[in-house]
Formats: sequence, C-alpha cells, structure tokens
Amino acid sequence: MDRVASAGNTIDIIKKHDFSFRKRFGQNFLIDAHVLDKIVDAADIKKDDYVIEIGPGIGSMTQCLCERAGKVTAVEIDRDLIPILNETLKDYDNVTVINEDILKVDLAGLINKENGGKPAKVVANLPYYITTPIVMTLLENHLPLKGITVMVQKEVAQRMQAEPGSKDYGALSLAVKYYSDPRIVANVPPNCFIPRPKVGSAVICLDVYDSPVVKVKDGELMFKLIRAAFNQRRKTLVNSIANSGGLTFSKQDITDALSSMNLPETIRGEALSLEEFAALSDLLTF
Ligand code: SAM
Repeated sequence: MDRVASAGNTIDIIKKHDFSFRKRFGQNFLIDAHVLDKIVDAADIKKDDYVIEIGPGIGSMTQCLCERAGKVTAVEIDRDLIPILNETLKDYDNVTVINEDILKVDLAGLINKENGGKPAKVVANLPYYITTPIVMTLLENHLPLKGITVMVQKEVAQRMQAEPGSKDYGALSLAVKYYSDPRIVANVPPNCFIPRPKVGSAVICLDVYDSPVVKVKDGELMFKLIRAAFNQRRKTLVNSIANSGGLTFSKQDITDALSSMNLPETIRGEALSLEEFAALSDLLTF
C-alpha cells in the first residue's frame, strides 16, 4: 500500500475528508517517511510487539507500526479523524483504533486485554500541549511497558535528558531518570510536519526500568522535595524547602541533613543528583 506519510498524500487525504486541523489538539502531522522509519527503528518494533500509539492523526505512523508490530492500538481524541483512520488503515487487521482521550484510558486494563498483561511499547508523535502529563502518566502508574519512544518539543527532550548543573535540569529530568533511561535519538525540523510547528522537535527513547534504579524510603516525599527545590530554583535548597507550603521541615533539619551528606548549606537543588535527592529524602523521613 502507498505510504500515508508524504506531503502530497497528506494534503489529498485532508482535502478528500474536508478535515480542518485543530490547534487545541496539537495537530502537526508528520509528512517525512524517513523520520517515521527512524522513530519506528529507534523503538525497535518487532513482530511479537504490542504497541500503543497515542494520537495517530491520519495514520502515517500507525501504518508503519502495523507493518512491523504484531498488534497495534491507536488512541485518538479527535472523532473527525476516525473515518480517515478507518480508510487509511483498512488493509491492516492487526490494529484497533480507540476514539478517546489517552489520559482517560485504563492503560493497565488495555494491556491486560490486548497483550495478556505482557509489556507493551508506546510510540507516538505526541501532542505538545500535554506532553508532560502523558509521559508522567505512563511512567508513574507502574504500567507494564518495555519502552516509550516519542516525538516531543526539542526543549522538552533536552529537559528530560538533562544532567545536574545544566540549565535544562529540573523536576522533569529527575522524574524521567527515576523511572527510565532517556536518550535523544533524532532532531526533527519544523518542515517535516503539516502544519509546521513553531518549535523544533526531537525523538526520545525512554527505556523503562522494571523497578526504579534509585531506592528511596518515601518516593512521594522525594518528589515533594524535588518540586520545592525547582519551584524556586535560584534560591538555596535550604530556603526552597523551608519556605515550601506543603513541607514542614525547618532550616536546621535541612542543613543537618545536607551536612551529614557532606553538602554545603548554600547548595541549590539544581546541583543535586537523583541519588542525592533520594538520600536527602531518606534522612528527612522519620
Ligand atoms: N501521529 C500523527 C502524525 O505523526 O502525523 C499525528 C501527531 S499530532 C502531533 C498529535 C495527535 O494526537 C493528533 O492526531 C491529535 O488529535 C491527537 N491528540 C491530541 N490530544 C490527544 C489526547 N488527549 N488523547 C489522544 N490523542 C490526542
């Protein structure tokens, strides 16, 4: 079958169905078949894989996934795209399209039903307006996932992969690193999409750990400390945590904990690694 992903085919399909792009759904469709191949290669999709695609659009990437995977579920929020997907994917019997908001789908139930609970792979050109909630939902809910390969805004990919001390390092970097091993595999310019986004994009693979690599007694507290640290990132860690509304530690508690870790009381949160936030959290857990 002809590939959906080309500027000409995409425009023909959109015209034929009188489809209007919806900005509020973050609709920027990929029209470069090489980029699609790169994403699917990076996700290492094989015949025994069950893949969940978020936001199939008109099915350019879905088509590629159907060719390579055993089974695909594509979750699309925009009901106007469903008749288009029914047409572009009509030659494939290994795909199910669900018309739903991905944040409302019971993903554990879906993986159970479609793949007997065995780990799934997620592949997507994500809608940029909800990238972080989607990625955090996938990571935080202890879903059986082997890998997440997604196109995101370039800056967000850099934040996910950032190391301590860099300007991009923050709460998102730490959350992503707690659950997975991130690696940027491609940068994608705006001219690979219709309509062109205003920002550059990047493809990032998150190799999801079976269980977090860093052990911490109270993960919830650690993430509260992390959020407090980066809410006021120019302040010292002691001040950020002591002034945070949701936490009740005194400056002395935090200074004592830092000193037992051989860290200065003037240190800022952006200098601490994930392991150090975990150690600090354990010292403040009673
Ligand atoms: N995969 C297509 C491609 O690469 O050409 C489209 C990608 S486009 C950046 C994002 C897609 O996600 C759109 O089709 C949009 O309608 C869909 N979308 C937006 N919000 C969504 C949500 N909450 N749940 C599921 N799909 C969503």
